[in-house]
Amino acid sequence: KWTGVDIPSAQYGGRHAVTMLPGGGIGPELMHYIREIFRFVGAPVDFEVIEIDPSTEGNDDLDYAITSIKRNGVAIKGNIETKSQGLDEVSRNVAIRNELDLYVNVLHCRSYPGIPSRHKNIDVVLIRQNTDGEYAMLEHESVRGVVESMKVVTVENAERVARYAFEYARQNNRKKVTTIHKANIMKLSDGLFLEVAKNVHKEYPEIEHNNMIIDNTCMQLVSNPHQFDVMNMTNLYGTIVSNVICGLIGGAGLLSGANYGDHFAVFEPGTRNTGTAIAGKNIANPVAMINASADMLNHLGHKEHARVIYEATYETVVNDGIRTPDLGGTASSTDVVENILKILARKRVN
Ligand code: ADP
Ligand code: MG
Repeated sequence: KWTGVDIPSAQYGGRHAVTMLPGGGIGPELMHYIREIFRFVGAPVDFEVIEIDPSTEGNDDLDYAITSIKRNGVAIKGNIETKSQGLDEVSRNVAIRNELDLYVNVLHCRSYPGIPSRHKNIDVVLIRQNTDGEYAMLEHESVRGVVESMKVVTVENAERVARYAFEYARQNNRKKVTTIHKANIMKLSDGLFLEVAKNVHKEYPEIEHNNMIIDNTCMQLVSNPHQFDVMNMTNLYGTIVSNVICGLIGGAGLLSGANYGDHFAVFEPGTRNTGTAIAGKNIANPVAMINASADMLNHLGHKEHARVIYEATYETVVNDGIRTPDLGGTASSTDVVENILKILARKRVN
């Protein structure tokens, strides 16, 4: 799989060091399962676990986490809560992506057979600009009662994400890229994003390119999602569209997402939920985080370890029907993990 450029990663005696940020809510319990599964299959990965306390003042934990990812090159993370609404309280999740220049988010949305969902056989790849747009975190109150929020679009980032989308399409035998925008209203910002995508498309004549306005996109997604192949979009539209598609496929607990830059890669559940309300109840669906961990193994080149984990997870949910309540099942999180371990015991890592 094409991931931008070669990403260096810390390696000691054939083992990889990877930063693990459990985050809040269901993050810590899910990370516990990941470590159990990795130990079980003998994945050659050592985790450097960094807890980020959302209630602390200052950013020491955050700086430490970013330093760790810069050293290791690769991280797996849960969602970090942003507790305070205070003006100087930045989202640490956004800060990590911006600080590491993780300019693209990749979400492969594929239906699981047998899972109750609105549509069958969805297979869409969402490519999202991950650092600027409305997430530039440039807001201010210009005069009392008037707030301005800057949506930033740069040629450089629009081009990197468009190129990622077309390159992804080319390398994965995809036929079409759809650029999502609101250029009829935001003529300069979204207009630039769209114009850049059209220019990049000239280098990929074998791939079809069309564009669609974000509001129509949401309607098309719920009524006829099969028309989409690869989608290219700005940051805020990306979070909306990814939640729509995940909802169509089976909710927040299934799909993984990856964040890439030229130097670093961070893996996490696709819809980045904290899951505060379901934490500690043994009901969180572990599948999204397990898929994220297998994506990470793939990225590190441990393809066989990744393969058996994907397969065991898929067989558990699809063939064995061991599903948590979010998928209409009655299994607990640990039921799912134990079944995965049982299947893994039969599989060989070549
Ligand atoms: P909150 O804001 O309360 O933390 P989130 O935004 O994190 O909730 O999650 C959105 C919804 O998705 C919630 O209903 C949550 O319970 C559900 N959800 C998120 N992750 C999972 C998961 N891994 N398994 C099951 N349900 C999940
Ligand atoms: Mg939430």
